[in-house]
Amino acid sequence: MTMYDKLQAIAKRENIIAGVGNAEPFYALRERLRYTAVPFTAYSIEERTEPSVTMPAVKSLVAVGSSYNVIYDSIDDGKYRGNISSGAVGKDYHRVIKEKLEIIKNELLEDHSTMIFSDTGPLADREVAVRCGLGTVGKNLSVINRDIGSMFFIGYMLTDVEYEKWDAPIANKDEDVCTGCGKCIGSCPGNAFDNGTFRYEKCISYITQKKGVLSYEESKALGIQIYGCDVCQRVCPKNTGYKRAYSEYAYPNIEELLNMSDKEFKRIYKPTAAGWRGRRTLQRNALIALGNMKADREDIIKRFAEDSREDIRAAAEYALKCIKER
Ligand code: SF4
Ligand code: SF4
Repeated sequence: MTMYDKLQAIAKRENIIAGVGNAEPFYALRERLRYTAVPFTAYSIEERTEPSVTMPAVKSLVAVGSSYNVIYDSIDDGKYRGNISSGAVGKDYHRVIKEKLEIIKNELLEDHSTMIFSDTGPLADREVAVRCGLGTVGKNLSVINRDIGSMFFIGYMLTDVEYEKWDAPIANKDEDVCTGCGKCIGSCPGNAFDNGTFRYEKCISYITQKKGVLSYEESKALGIQIYGCDVCQRVCPKNTGYKRAYSEYAYPNIEELLNMSDKEFKRIYKPTAAGWRGRRTLQRNALIALGNMKADREDIIKRFAEDSREDIRAAAEYALKCIKER
């Protein structure tokens, strides 16, 4: 059995997808990055586009994907509840992906140099996934895999192993991956797809994670999102193979979230992908969600209108204004 076949056998057993690609620089991305701002990364253009800057001995890239295509049953208990996108519910995907990559490393690459990354690595996950043949980029800018759609977490590994074969990037010639139907663009609540240009600053997922005071427009666009947004993937016909599940974390009780101590927040949210942004940002979003719901909870909101933190105070003032206009 070749190394490549062994990799695929492990992937099948672990219920993930995996592919291998060369470690050449990402030349096309390098050009694009010169003119595009990338939020939430401190890596230089060289680090983001040249695998050898991070690992001089690198010979191959191994990308893996783990599906999170789940729809959580709504909770109708009369409480004011926000929404957390399905990818951020449950165990933090960084850990899930890291565990899978560790399994590959331990079973297959024990005698080799490897570096493992999930989300926080220098290279662009999407580019690595495409080069390793996991899928092709759809109009919603997500990597779509023929079998599992686009709702999967991506992780990758740099290794000094030369595999017997590399996966080829998948072509979308027959529109068998992205059909070009445009549902993703038409359904985007933030209107982030602007004439073929992605405006990340209008993306709700980005807005829920960015720190500081949100503008009136950003607050309105947030709706009831506490963390993340996945509408452009949810509406995609390639993601109809979802599972159903129940989790209270998908629809957090806003009153509970606002009353939560830092210790409680860490216990409940730290193991999830939504926890990394911290209590303050999620509570800011929770206040805005109450406003957008025109919730009958001025008593709670007023407590935060006197807060010493400007972003929290501004969110409370926004919520009170919305409720007044009810
Ligand atoms: S995540 Fe939401 S706001 Fe962002 S592009 Fe997709 S649908 Fe639009
Ligand atoms: S919704 Fe349609 S256009 Fe958008 S990514 Fe999916 S298949 Fe492509």
